[in-house]
Amino acid sequence: MTPSNHPSDRASDAEPDRQPDREVETASAPRARDAGTSGGFDTDLTLGPATRLLWRSPDCVHLEVGDRAVVVEGLPAPVLRAVAASLPPPRSRAVATRSGAPAPAAQRAGDPRDPRNPADSVNSGDSGDSAPPAVRDTLRALAEAGFLWRRPGGPDDRRLSPPGPRLAPELTSLAGRHGPAAADVLAARQTARVVVHGASRLAAQLGAVLASAGVGRVHCSGGGDVRLHCAAPGGVTPGDEGRPLQQAAEHALRRAAPEVDTGPPDPDEPADLTVLALDEPVSDDRRLALHALDAPYLVVRLGADSGVIGPLVLPGLTSCLRCADLHRQDRDPAWAALSVQLTIGRRHGPASSVAVATLVAGAAAVQALAFLDGEQPAAVNATLEVQLPDWRLRRRSWPMHPECDCAQLPQSPTGRAAGQR
Ligand SMILES: [Zn+2]
Repeated sequence: MTPSNHPSDRASDAEPDRQPDREVETASAPRARDAGTSGGFDTDLTLGPATRLLWRSPDCVHLEVGDRAVVVEGLPAPVLRAVAASLPPPRSRAVATRSGAPAPAAQRAGDPRDPRNPADSVNSGDSGDSAPPAVRDTLRALAEAGFLWRRPGGPDDRRLSPPGPRLAPELTSLAGRHGPAAADVLAARQTARVVVHGASRLAAQLGAVLASAGVGRVHCSGGGDVRLHCAAPGGVTPGDEGRPLQQAAEHALRRAAPEVDTGPPDPDEPADLTVLALDEPVSDDRRLALHALDAPYLVVRLGADSGVIGPLVLPGLTSCLRCADLHRQDRDPAWAALSVQLTIGRRHGPASSVAVATLVAGAAAVQALAFLDGEQPAAVNATLEVQLPDWRLRRRSWPMHPECDCAQLPQSPTGRAAGQR
């Protein structure tokens, strides 16, 4: 059975240390026999592309989108059938352009019937004028909560048209969190610039995930040649051994996303995010250089059977690597000596579990994409850590340290305001 947010699934599978179940709200409308809607029903509201509808009984449904769910009771069956009617298959914007089809009227700038705003539909009274007021109120509430969208005006509706067919599932996923604005979020990703720096085995793997998720420009800047310990599924391959790492990483990115731009950011348009995927600790010189550029950065590290994602640093606004070091030093007077020894490489070269590397690359990509999409990544002021044999990612908070210099470091006049894209 496909996993869902269904209350009974969560109750039966619950474990003591699991997150508490989310509340499932209940919305009520008149029972079918009272609603006066016995025949067909016409509405221009429909399930959002990320909304799931589960029937609890003939007049009671469970709707869920993202991490939210609601039980709706009493909507007449014709209303439910009309709302649940299938959407047309999405067409990518690229296909629409090639076809020469004109843009739907609702997509033109300034059109007050822009389907990206479901509330417009509800307020205009299109959400079921033939239905009793209580039914309309229920549909209105479901639209405002993001469970229902205005029905597409055509197959080229921008809300359902990914930039390319490959990104259709990404657009639907984003719709679960961003609603009809998902298309704008995905469009913004396509203009984003990310640099992945380092020779860690997850560097190319992580870059490939970001490119596959629609990030327009991803540049892997790791130096040296590929060694076998760099190989990972989705990243550089064993067959790349001996090739320049940067060249092999570019090939990995293009395998995942043929349209990705793998060039470095232009000097006057610095990267929106720099990922430091290093096998060695980040030097203070590199930290200072990133702060001087006002350049947001995310640190990702692999251990022999562990991984650490974060912190994601917005220079001057959030805690940095040195903040975390100072906190460790407060707790352990020997930390300064230990941290120096940690800069010495392992005798047998970098060691990491490819399964952990893949897990960490995916989790780091989630953090990077959350930042690029304008959300609040969990790795800000924190690290996310996994250590085998435990299977959980644990979050450790690292607030800004009062003795760290990061809040007062001078910034280049070309630096951008951190976190603003
Ligand atoms: Zn700091």
